[in-house]
Amino acid sequence: MTEQDALAERKMQFLFALRSKGVTDPAVLTAMEKVDRGPFVRGLFAERAYEDTPLPIACGQTISQPSVVGLMTQALEVSPRDSVLEVGTGSGYQAAILSHLARRVYTVERHRRLVREAKQVFDAMGLVNVTSFISDGSFGLPDQAPFDRIIVTAAAEDPPGPLLAQLKIGGIMVVPVGQSDAVQSLIRVRRTETGFDYDELRSVRFVPLVEGVARETE
Ligand code: SAH
Repeated sequence: MTEQDALAERKMQFLFALRSKGVTDPAVLTAMEKVDRGPFVRGLFAERAYEDTPLPIACGQTISQPSVVGLMTQALEVSPRDSVLEVGTGSGYQAAILSHLARRVYTVERHRRLVREAKQVFDAMGLVNVTSFISDGSFGLPDQAPFDRIIVTAAAEDPPGPLLAQLKIGGIMVVPVGQSDAVQSLIRVRRTETGFDYDELRSVRFVPLVEGVARETE
């Protein structure tokens, strides 16, 4: 098998795993086909980048499982005119996928090092519509608000109030909710003219949403 064949084979298996876990939205699958997960997984675990599994990244965090990224992205119902906020940049993988589906992606992370490394990958991939910020994402980004879509990739006990407030009417937020050391529920929130509708999508497991910007030693 040539290296090219091996690559094609790996890609097919990756997409097959996504489909078999319920990622069926063609736009989401196309976006995920475009984004190579390899560069987002550095160091020891790099060779496992194409497996449908979460993996450790720097600062004690994790890059999510591709099928979970796919299901969350699908639940977000992103359209090409949308302005999207992501809380929890981590490796930058989720943001890179969103960048192919939305008009603009704002992504917030509390670890400086993760922001620096994610930016390098965004630049190398030419993803010009992604902007990264170092801050506590629980407060959202008041200067860029409101957003059509908000995705939180760390678990909160409740959907943070400032994020609900920064969601447009008709907007959708996807957020894992629950105690950080237990299984959490993935919740979809839709903002209506009069309030918020909630539905529970599935159980998930995410690292916790932590207060404040991380100290360099954290
Ligand atoms: N979306 C990521 C996975 C994120 S893991 C990816 O595609 O790789 C969750 C991330 O949320 C971690 O990097 C963690 O540092 C970050 N995080 C936790 N609490 C936060 C907060 N209050 N503000 C911003 N980022 C936060």
